[in-house]
Amino acid sequence: MKHLLLAIPLFLSVSVTAAKAPVGIVIHGGAGTIDRVNMTEAQRRNYEATLTLAVNKGYQVLASGGSSLDAVTQAVIIMEDSPLFNAGKGAVYTWDETHELDAAIMTGQDRNAGAVASVTNVKNPILLARAVMEHSEHVMLTGSGAEQFAAARQLELVDNAYFNTQFRFEALKKAKQAEQRLPHQAAIIPDPNWKMGTVGAVAIDNNGNLAAATSTGGMTAKRWGRVGDVPVIGAGNFADNSSCAVSGTGHGEYFIRYNVAADICARVKYQGKTAAAAAEEVIAELLQIGGTGGVIVVDNEGELSWAFNTQGMYRAKQNHTGTVVEIFADQNEKTGN
Ligand code: ASP
Repeated sequence: MKHLLLAIPLFLSVSVTAAKAPVGIVIHGGAGTIDRVNMTEAQRRNYEATLTLAVNKGYQVLASGGSSLDAVTQAVIIMEDSPLFNAGKGAVYTWDETHELDAAIMTGQDRNAGAVASVTNVKNPILLARAVMEHSEHVMLTGSGAEQFAAARQLELVDNAYFNTQFRFEALKKAKQAEQRLPHQAAIIPDPNWKMGTVGAVAIDNNGNLAAATSTGGMTAKRWGRVGDVPVIGAGNFADNSSCAVSGTGHGEYFIRYNVAADICARVKYQGKTAAAAAEEVIAELLQIGGTGGVIVVDNEGELSWAFNTQGMYRAKQNHTGTVVEIFADQNEKTGN
């Protein structure tokens, strides 16, 4: 009897302590027609090295007890500073041969969010999105107003020419040639390899808090102040502790119309699906209506996953089980585990 009484409080304390989700991070550097034929060995190694650097940096933050917000910020900054990705330094060109950048960040514990659209002179747009979230009463700032706010927050400003790269300029020339066939329209050119890119990160920290960050130059040859899915909360970026955090890359117009990131988390929350299954489902449905792209996801149990309907997606993940860095579709583990 005595033994039984002693055992009860022990049993109760064990039963109420939920298993803690492991910390983890997933990142992407864009999806598109990425195949082995069009990539040299040196290029592949370059991409893999930068993805590894970014995912390791984010994971270090988490492993040392830092927040998921800091982890996704740090990982995205590394990719923004690299010319390899369509974000920050490597941003694509607009029709007018300039660069207009979009970014968003969101925290899952309070669904706080910050976003910026069409900024031309901020070196790291993700830091501006974060400043909007943390130091303004707004969620989204655009254009010159966003730039005034960046200056007021003393963020690093650069000349628009800082974002110039030869590779992206060639892409613009190709886009313009293709579009000349349809001079009256902003044609959608079906070659994601030179239209898209984008970087993003999602993470869970040791408090179980989720965060998502996404940054992009948008789509090559965009005009008329086009804003993509990235700064539209729920389209290309979303985080909610009750379900998951998502960052997307792909043809932004489809991501906006189908509210892709929030839809994945809604299926987890209301339909009880795993984040991996929900992501696969939404990305497959997107392709049915012509939307190409992919997502990275972390759920509130620390499951890391990705899904994409393109030939490849630059991607990496890290948790206590190790690091995975992949580019091509035939490396895909489906669930990302
Ligand atoms: N989603 C981005 C946009 O439409 C582009 C990309 O992911 O590459 O602005």
